[in-house]
Amino acid sequence: MKPNTLTPPHPPDFPITTVMQIVSEAMHAFRQPLIDQMGHTQQTPFRILVATILSLRTKDTLTAVVAPRLFTVADTPTTILALGDERLAELIYPVGFYRTKARSIIQICSILLDRYDGAVPADLDALLELPGVGRKTANLVMTAGFGLPGICVDIHVHRICNRWGYVSTKNPDATEQVLRAQLPPRYWIPINNLLVTLGQHICHPTSPHCRICPLTAYCARVGVTRSR
Ligand code: SF4
Repeated sequence: MKPNTLTPPHPPDFPITTVMQIVSEAMHAFRQPLIDQMGHTQQTPFRILVATILSLRTKDTLTAVVAPRLFTVADTPTTILALGDERLAELIYPVGFYRTKARSIIQICSILLDRYDGAVPADLDALLELPGVGRKTANLVMTAGFGLPGICVDIHVHRICNRWGYVSTKNPDATEQVLRAQLPPRYWIPINNLLVTLGQHICHPTSPHCRICPLTAYCARVGVTRSR
């Protein structure tokens, strides 16, 4: 596909409402990211927190097997703490970094019991103080776990917003700050689900499928040098 000739729009001129409507309609056809599926099935915030940690650097298809397997054995801070590092690591094998994740989850369970009476705090800053919890995980627990405002910016949201020309940022944390300033609040929660799905199926990191993308009329394709 030949390089795009659209000039990146000034963010206030970017037709975000139109673009989000188009993505929303188009992504119905695809399977949703795992954590959003969990959020829609009334999982506890604790399960969302643990599953999100398990899903980091791990395929959704694997997390979808490992998380339920763990939750049939233990799904509260008390019961997971009782397993100990070694048993927990066995139960979550082979997710990426399973030993490190097991240690973090055990530490988190201990903190939740000590400070929050075993509950997950519905507060972004409090979540960010938990071991192994970064902004992506904390925002996802706020949105999928509690249904509260948050913008979960992972690598898909970061990449696609930059390709659109809606933001011009160097990393996901910077993208989150810009989105908090300019993205209409009604899109804060759905943007992660929609752009992860778009990123997994069409707007791939390398060689995105621009020919079949419903957004070609609006996307500046910033930084896209090769596409299909
Ligand atoms: S697939 Fe191409 S046109 Fe669609 S959002 Fe990605 S870069 Fe833009």
